[in-house]
Amino acid sequence: MKQHLYDNNNIFAKIIRGEVSCKKLDECPHTLTFYDINPQAPIHVLVIPKGAYIDIDDFSIKASVEEQAAFVAAIGRAAKLTGAFEKGYRIISNVGAFGHQEVPHLHVHILGGEPIGPIRGR
Ligand code: AMP
Repeated sequence: MKQHLYDNNNIFAKIIRGEVSCKKLDECPHTLTFYDINPQAPIHVLVIPKGAYIDIDDFSIKASVEEQAAFVAAIGRAAKLTGAFEKGYRIISNVGAFGHQEVPHLHVHILGGEPIGPIRGR
């Protein structure tokens, strides 16, 4: 069943509040970008909005145009800052149960640094 209420105690909310540390790559007033704790590729960072949004459809409905623009800009910046843009990368945002979303705060994974393979690992 889809979660409709934002959980203030999810791990990314704690990172935003400074209660849990992260290895930060980049920050702006609306976004935070940090390294994934369990990297799945040589480059693996997560871009999150600082606002309380569960996933991309929640964000697309509730976030201001300024927040949405900042999020897209942060993704592009992360691709540059990590060097992932040189040879290419994949952006992924998992949503809900079928999307295998583990942390209920919107995040985009940026994976790169080696060939990422087909879109589904079958
Ligand atoms: P998912 O919700 O399935 O898209 O993925 C959540 C991602 O968050 C996983 O790749 C985790 O390794 C990552 N993660 C969970 N906790 C932390 C943390 N404290 N710092 C950085 N990454 C984390």
